Amino acid sequence: MRHASWERQANMRTCVYPGSFDPFTIGHHDVLERAIAMFDRVYVSVLSNAAKHPTFSVEERVDMIQRMVDAEEMKNVVVTHFDGLMVNYAHAIGADYVIRGLRATMDFEYEFQINALNLHLAPDVDTVYFMARPEHSFLSSSAVREIGSMGGNIKGLVPNSIHNIIAERLRKP
Ligand code: ADP
Repeated sequence: MRHASWERQANMRTCVYPGSFDPFTIGHHDVLERAIAMFDRVYVSVLSNAAKHPTFSVEERVDMIQRMVDAEEMKNVVVTHFDGLMVNYAHAIGADYVIRGLRATMDFEYEFQINALNLHLAPDVDTVYFMARPEHSFLSSSAVREIGSMGGNIKGLVPNSIHNIIAERLRKP
């Protein structure tokens, strides 16, 4: 008799990398590349949460990430957006795993709490964490927004393939 987990292995390993991505940074990019290496299919999914008052609209963020995926010919990446409960979305797209990144000190408490709640809601969806590279540990979307909106140079902080779009957009008042 075949073990249930063998059945699972025969299937595609699908994960969802949810986030605000307002905008997508090289820290996000690094986590995405590491997820691509581990999974057969990665959904990069922009959370449309109006309460967060994002700078970039959902459409802009999805479009930017898709441009990057196309420019870098990233394989097996699907760019989407969603609202509502993340675990419901994971079920809807058939993702067994969630990807999150952990930066030094700032993310752990929050992720620990969210993980407990997500496991309560959906024990079948597990979360995989990638430690931010030391050189990305300082980097956040809000820092990029702040520097860019004041005319500072954001080269090297966001993926090259979408640098111009992000820089131009942030310069707009
Ligand atoms: P959210 O609002 O869901 O936290 P973010 O866009 O801020 O959305 O982050 C999405 C995910 O990427 C989170 O797991 C976050 O910890 C991770 N992340 C953000 N910045 C970095 C970085 N510089 N290095 C690694 N992971 C990061």
